[in-house]
Amino acid sequence: MPELPEVETVRSRLAPVLSGRRFDRVEIFDPRLTRPIDPVEVATELEGERISDVGRRGKYLVVGFESGRSLLIPPRMTVSIRHTPPDALAVDPYRRAVVRLDDGSDVVYRDVRRFGTWLVVEPDELEPYLAARIGGEPLARAFTPRRLAERLRNRRAPIKSALLDQRTFAGMGNIYADEALWRAGIHPLRPANTLAAEDVERLTRAVKAALRAGIARHGATLRDYATPDGRRGRMQHTLKVYGRSGEPCERCGAPIGKTRVAGRGTWYCPGCQRLDVGQAARRSSRRPSRSRRQSSV
Ligand code: ZN
Repeated sequence: MPELPEVETVRSRLAPVLSGRRFDRVEIFDPRLTRPIDPVEVATELEGERISDVGRRGKYLVVGFESGRSLLIPPRMTVSIRHTPPDALAVDPYRRAVVRLDDGSDVVYRDVRRFGTWLVVEPDELEPYLAARIGGEPLARAFTPRRLAERLRNRRAPIKSALLDQRTFAGMGNIYADEALWRAGIHPLRPANTLAAEDVERLTRAVKAALRAGIARHGATLRDYATPDGRRGRMQHTLKVYGRSGEPCERCGAPIGKTRVAGRGTWYCPGCQRLDVGQAARRSSRRPSRSRRQSSV
């Protein structure tokens, strides 16, 4: 699944070529893309719309039109969106939709596994739709330690689970959650509500730093299709813990360990991301939480 840095990479590449352009012709080849709405109906609605901006909220790509409507594209593992010369990908079997722009170029939406969706929303529907699903933007000025502390205060779940929850804040996924926790020196299984004020302060900085590192390297490409515009990012070469089992931690030299949290493979450094002894004792005397039970599967 692409995370905030991968979606931001696509957004920043598409924005200059799409802004101000008109959707002249829209062809949707896969009815699953717009289900339950008829793809012909959606295509007809979109034709003639002029793009005002290409935005992002969390992991959603938000194509804004001058009419005030938006096209919302949620992140999916096998989706790529490519700007091409006309008909460049005409024989591509994974092409699900093609938009011909008014300058004659194409925007091609590919999806190998067909889990992707398009949603056209009216001006007054966008914010309520997003507000029901995702929290604030972690790279915004408003994302402060105080704000994060409020979100974590009543959460007994492991901190990694809380970071993956898009309502805590938007855009984090498995890679950058592990990277941020390593940067902050916090164990992924630490219950979110046990973080002290200084932990939350470090974590806030770590989240921003991990995401900015990803954006600067155009995201991580861990499989051929992981960067959603078909190009390869470079973040995979500079990950600190994710996917690095057994390699030495660059901060303390201990071998990177792997566990499972919330059903997800989780990498961390047992040397410098410790669960303290008192906490570990309290944890073991309690009935295991849901994510702990999952971790033994
Ligand atoms: Zn370490």
